[in-house]
Amino acid sequence: MIQADQSQRYRAITRATIAKRPEWQRLPRDLREAIETVSLVLPFRTNAYLVEELIDWDNPEDDPIFQLTFPQRGMLEDDQYARVRDALGRDAEKAELNEVVNDIREELNPHPAGQMTHNVPHVDGEPIPGMQHKYRETVLFFPSHGQTCHAYCTFCFRWAQFVGDESLKFANKEADQLARYLRQHPEVTDVLFTGGDPMIMKTRVFERYIEQILDIESVRTIRIGTKSLAYWPQRFVTDPDADDLLRLYERIVDSGKHLAVMAHCSHPVEFSTDVARDAIRRVRATGANIRMQSPVIRHVNDDAGTWADMWSTGVQLGLVPYYMFVERDTGAKKYFDMPLVRCWNIFRNAYQRVSGMARTVRGPSMSCFPGKCHILGVTEIGGRRAFALEFLQAREPDLVRRPFFAKYDPKATWYDQLEPFSKADEPFFVSPDDRPTAELTVEGLRSN
Ligand SMILES: *Cc1c(COP(=O)(O)O)cnc(C)c1O
Ligand code: SF4
Repeated sequence: MIQADQSQRYRAITRATIAKRPEWQRLPRDLREAIETVSLVLPFRTNAYLVEELIDWDNPEDDPIFQLTFPQRGMLEDDQYARVRDALGRDAEKAELNEVVNDIREELNPHPAGQMTHNVPHVDGEPIPGMQHKYRETVLFFPSHGQTCHAYCTFCFRWAQFVGDESLKFANKEADQLARYLRQHPEVTDVLFTGGDPMIMKTRVFERYIEQILDIESVRTIRIGTKSLAYWPQRFVTDPDADDLLRLYERIVDSGKHLAVMAHCSHPVEFSTDVARDAIRRVRATGANIRMQSPVIRHVNDDAGTWADMWSTGVQLGLVPYYMFVERDTGAKKYFDMPLVRCWNIFRNAYQRVSGMARTVRGPSMSCFPGKCHILGVTEIGGRRAFALEFLQAREPDLVRRPFFAKYDPKATWYDQLEPFSKADEPFFVSPDDRPTAELTVEGLRSN
């Protein structure tokens, strides 16, 4: 019994501890060396559940979860790899090694444009750094206690920016600021807890944030963005405060609000275990809804069959497909990214294979400075190929759902590489450097 309990207890596996795992010894030497080298720059964190139950160690290099959680040789350029390897081989002093590592991290664009500078709201003149208010109806809230994850995705650099005061006192202060902001902004109907992963928090900590907003009537929906159903479903099943968490979910639902768990799902294998299915059942039994979203990533889920399977299995288990994202321009993007046209083809080929129940999903979508840009597809206008696009969300609400066009570019992997197809499309191409949101006018469009 004790053994069973222990195997259910969360423990991170990192560069410092991986060598103790029997699976590690099964990897070819060059693969181990690559992980040891790259992980100095791009640290990994995984856990026994992923290692034992989700990764196929007979074929690790083709395994989606191995690719998702272990850094790979191809994530660094040859010269970057050589610099780390060289410093390691020379047994360089710690300070020198750190310098090499920090230089390379800077080269990887760890802070993509605009996010934290353009959207920080204020309450009573004071900035609230743990919050983002980009779209009128929805506030993103990053509790300082939720700034890590049960495992790190190799494509994600958010954890590189994870900072936060972890004291409970600070949690109270943050929750108080959030509540004050929401009372002053009744246009906000949705609060989205994000991170990191807010479900890394102990229930009694998470409760401090929730309690403050339960009686704010203008808030209709509380969303929790989390990867825990995939990375640590035990959070909802066997963790010591799993039941308390579910009771808290019930309280939210009983308060009359919609509770949505925005589950980050990368691959259908994440739904394959008993504990993951138990977790889904238990969460749904509270009255919460689970929606699924994920970026489309090379080496992990870059084929239509994987997505069709993920959406239809998700629907079968009671989840609602929500967004497919394009991976953004940071970190090891080069290793993972794909031309937009390929993302679109994966999306539409998967979409064709599922019933209307799964067609609630929208994508592929790029979260870029002006908004969430949806790639509708490739078309031809007057003999020239074009991308047809629209905004699903925009800083400027009037831009939403107006079709517009970009010149077709088979290599483009991100919005900033696209060019307006014609003059009429120019108002849709906005970058953080162009102009502040308040000056963004769409007069030309309004008169259409
Ligand atoms: C995606 C996103 C939201 C939520 O948008 P929905 O379309 O309502 O899911 C809110 N804020 C930011 C900054 C986002 O990127
Ligand atoms: S779970 Fe989310 S925040 Fe955490 S590493 Fe993965 S993508 Fe990043």
